[in-house]
Amino acid sequence: KLILITGGTGFIGNHTVSQFLLNGYRVRATVRNQDSCDRFLSIHWRHRDSLETLIVADITRPGAFDAAVKDVDGIVHMASPFTYKITDNEKDLIVPAINGTKGILQSTVSFAPKVKRVVLTSSFASIADFSKGLRPGHVYEESQWSPLTYQATKDDKRGLAYAGSKKLAEEAAWQFVETSPGVNFSLATINPTMVYGPAFPGSAGLKHLGQSMSEIYALMDASLNEVPPTMLPAFVDVRDVARAHLLAFETDNPQRFLISGGDFDKQKVCDLLRDQIPELKSRVPVGNPGKPSIGEHYEVDCSRARSILGIEFRPFNETFLDMGHAFLEMENAE
Ligand code: NDP
Repeated sequence: KLILITGGTGFIGNHTVSQFLLNGYRVRATVRNQDSCDRFLSIHWRHRDSLETLIVADITRPGAFDAAVKDVDGIVHMASPFTYKITDNEKDLIVPAINGTKGILQSTVSFAPKVKRVVLTSSFASIADFSKGLRPGHVYEESQWSPLTYQATKDDKRGLAYAGSKKLAEEAAWQFVETSPGVNFSLATINPTMVYGPAFPGSAGLKHLGQSMSEIYALMDASLNEVPPTMLPAFVDVRDVARAHLLAFETDNPQRFLISGGDFDKQKVCDLLRDQIPELKSRVPVGNPGKPSIGEHYEVDCSRARSILGIEFRPFNETFLDMGHAFLEMENAE
């Protein structure tokens, strides 16, 4: 079977492409330019015969995915800007998130009759109401939605525009499949909390780390004296997120799937790296060992993903030790 994956060049994307390839699928990946295409093919050289690429330079252009969806059996749409370094909320975040999502669904209806399932990479940010803070005692699960509106996201100056872009894109996707004529496929979404873990081998350089990786590398590159505050107290391993996409593609019960591996705290990451990786002892800030840097907070209920997808999540130590070691290997390779 041939699966179209967008955003395959990213942190989660490379692991996801690999999951599908290892499970016998052929993958067509959209990339933004030739350089990115060459790098991507060299990372996945072992599966060169099962992998093709197609350049889609601008996912917001109407019909951008018309050629990419031809002959595919399924789609994973992951391409969406994940950054807080933006100048224009609407242009930099909202438009690519929403138009990319609606565009690929429209292309699927028009040109990909074999597609039975689309998996969209959404986010915990589509579910959580961050304006309510840490909400001790509250349990987040899939029936809940972020209250962020288009206007609030466009006008936001508090760092919530990324969250809004994910909520609006996911909402547009569910609306599309429920109301558009000619939809012959089902939708599943993966809604991860903060995604961490090792970069797919060969896929990242220390000078161009994405949002997730740069947050953790900052703890170990000797640049900090203090442990920075923890913004979001839940994490999930990138390898589990990749697997969740495969399982959501294959399940006969597609839904919205919230996934999380457990609690996250930057102090706890620092304690672990200092204790377990001797090379890092002098580089990682000490902070207040053993004392969480974040207070009581909400819980994230992943029972739906556990029961329907049958997924188990890697524990904290595995994710962050593997991530620490992977960064050291990257330093040695540079
Ligand atoms: P990365 O920045 O590593 O990857 C993003 C991917 O999307 C890359 O392939 C990138 O392409 C592509 N992309 C970004 N903006 C555009 C655009 N305007 N047009 C076309 N392609 C674009 O981030 P992640 O791997 O962390 O994120 C992947 C997905 O997971 C996103 O949808 C993100 O919202 C979601 N997510 C991430 C979480 C996290 O903690 N990391 C948590 C929850 C959800 P290129 O390589 O060309 O830049």
